[in-house]
Formats: sequence, C-alpha cells, structure tokens
Amino acid sequence: MPLFDFRCRACSHEFEALVLKDTPPSECPKCHAGDLERLLSVFASTSREQRRAAADSQVHKAARQAHKDNAAVEREGEAHRREEH
Ligand SMILES: [Zn+2]
Repeated sequence: MPLFDFRCRACSHEFEALVLKDTPPSECPKCHAGDLERLLSVFASTSREQRRAAADSQVHKAARQAHKDNAAVEREGEAHRREEH
C-alpha cells in the first residue's frame, strides 16, 4: 500500500495518505484546504516511529562528524583513564 506524507500549505498540518494510482488526496483532513504538498521522504513508507529513529540516528551521525574522528576521541578517553591510575 503506497503511503505518502503530505503537508497542508494552509495550516502546515502533516498527514499520511494512501495514494492509489498516483492520485493524491484532494484536501487537508484538518482544515479542508486544497493546497497540499507531497513531502519527498525516503521514509515515506515506514512508520512514524521508524522515521523518528532514523532522524535520531542522523542526529547522532552529525554529532560524531562534529568530533571529526570518533576513534581519536576514544583514544583521548583511554589516555585520560590511564592518567587516573
Ligand atoms: Zn490544513
């Protein structure tokens, strides 16, 4: 079943809709405006929980990139532990 995410440009409400034969929903389920935008997401067919987890992992990946070299950080940690003993 092709599920896609849509966002209403009128009220910014985001919702999932089943799209059959490439026919998008005609109106926002919240405010019934017809100005809908289909969100382009590789996670469109997964659950909201999976998408949230994927977003979290991207945050962690960005955090690791901020440290440039995670191994170097770990070596610093080991050196610090040796200093303590
Ligand atoms: Zn709306």
